[in-house]
Amino acid sequence: MSLTCISFACLLTLVATMTAAADEPPAGEKVVLVVHGGAGVRPKAQMNRQLRKQYEDDLRKALLAGHAALQNGTSLDGVEAAIKVLEDSPLFNAGKGAVFTHDGQIELDASIMEGKEKRAGAVASVTRIKNPISAARAVMEKSEHVLLVGEGAERFAINAGVPEVSPVEFWTAERWKELLDELDREKRDELKPKNPQGPKPAALEHRPDRNRFGTVGAVALDKNGNLAAGTSTGGMLNKKHGRVGDSPIIGAGTYAENSACAVSGTGHGEIFIRFAVAHDIVSALKHGKAHGVTVSDAAKGVIAGLPPEEGGVGGVIALDAQGRAAMEFDTEGMYRGTITSDGVIKIAIYKGE
Ligand code: ASP
Repeated sequence: MSLTCISFACLLTLVATMTAAADEPPAGEKVVLVVHGGAGVRPKAQMNRQLRKQYEDDLRKALLAGHAALQNGTSLDGVEAAIKVLEDSPLFNAGKGAVFTHDGQIELDASIMEGKEKRAGAVASVTRIKNPISAARAVMEKSEHVLLVGEGAERFAINAGVPEVSPVEFWTAERWKELLDELDREKRDELKPKNPQGPKPAALEHRPDRNRFGTVGAVALDKNGNLAAGTSTGGMLNKKHGRVGDSPIIGAGTYAENSACAVSGTGHGEIFIRFAVAHDIVSALKHGKAHGVTVSDAAKGVIAGLPPEEGGVGGVIALDAQGRAAMEFDTEGMYRGTITSDGVIKIAIYKGE
């Protein structure tokens, strides 16, 4: 263990609560699946009751699909089933409903990992795979590789039986408008030096992050005590062609290890890659749990360590092998939900819910 790991584990030990070493939760309270729909929520002021219900309905559908898959399947089945529902929903930034690149294209990233043998698979920059999470799983199970990108990833996934769609299937009018607004803001920023008296450039205004973050993810625990994690995204609005974020990077956006926890992240991808967020949470728990560090402590500590001055904001969901869940974020909210082995569902969006 590196010195940094030791000192980080010690630090977390100090902040761990007295209840940290809690025993395994009673069977009925054990969380078996957690999902997120991104830490870039619609600002509260723009959320109405009807829209909120749509988000909650899709999160519930994802939890139920994952729970059903877990009945006779593995944690990988639970993660894949839940994420497919969120990818098919136009509300979240993954699959249908993904954000556009600067060039007006959709480029999707996804990854999946299981915590027993630490096998993992991922795809990046795919444009015509209906459910990128299934392509990531195909890479894990049917190839000798971990990450395939672009055309090669698409060809491999389609040959492996993953359904193909036309790229236009992913387009939504709302995301297109978001891109146009963003390009417009960029243009106004460029005009700034020529017009010092003009309106304040958008780059200097407070920017709600809903247009930039999204992403969906799931973490699951199966009846054999095996964990899995998965993440799928359209990336960040207005990203450059070929840009790859943290979501398909094992250790950054996704990680799972049975001896600690499974993690899926959402937020500023470049920062999540640099800080190896998902793996850092697993490490913090692995090295700190003997000293009372819980999965929540580990997730909270790592998110708190991101540099906000560099736009380092976002959130994570995590689940340990005892069925204890953490949902941490430093944005206004994160679409999120849990389901227990008994099928009890909890869904929340904003901070404090
Ligand atoms: N982390 C994703 C990325 O940077 C974006 C997100 O979570 O919304 O690609």
